[in-house]
Amino acid sequence: SKKVAVLAVQGAFIEHERALGKLGCECVELRQGPDVDQAFDALVLPGGESTAQAKMLRELGMLDTLRNRVAAGLPVLGTCAGLILLAQNVEEGVPAAGDPAGPVAAGATAPGAFGTLPVTVRRNAYGRQLGSFHTVAPCAGLPGVPDGETTDIPMTFIRAPFIKEAHEGAKVLARVDDRIVAVRAGNQIGVAFHPELDDDLRIHQLLVSLA
Ligand code: GLN
Repeated sequence: SKKVAVLAVQGAFIEHERALGKLGCECVELRQGPDVDQAFDALVLPGGESTAQAKMLRELGMLDTLRNRVAAGLPVLGTCAGLILLAQNVEEGVPAAGDPAGPVAAGATAPGAFGTLPVTVRRNAYGRQLGSFHTVAPCAGLPGVPDGETTDIPMTFIRAPFIKEAHEGAKVLARVDDRIVAVRAGNQIGVAFHPELDDDLRIHQLLVSLA
């Protein structure tokens, strides 16, 4: 069975482990620096608070090893905050209350902690009113879906980013209201929503199929 590492320093990682368990994967939690030294077939970067996650990745000494492995082709799924970590460019939206990064000016840009996924992401993109919502939208590139076709999947958004621009090498998999919410670039999958919170396992299946 495939061994999938799940970043477990902050955020919604248990739900990913549950989904991956249903697919027969063995999950290992990355909590401490030395946890990244073992071998694994794929990586999940969960939702949560991207600034807190980035800080912990650096402080625990995990970031360089993980970034190098992703750059070398380790399959990775970044969801919500995880997508922000992967993004080459992150633009600040409405500042989140209690953000550990402190007040960051709306519109400021910086690379994500990994910076390996060729997209520009807008953080906290939906504002406070429409902070969280659930929808169903067509998604391409999932296992069993022929090229050029899509299948509807459930999508739960929680203070989500959207992908403002997919750069060269990033294939758009899904849009909601004309905003890009899922991409794939090589072995990197980035989604703005939380597939681990719905019963549909196909986004996780896509990750496992790359491992
Ligand atoms: N708003 C969070 C961030 O900017 C992401 C929210 C989430 O992962 N559900 O990091």
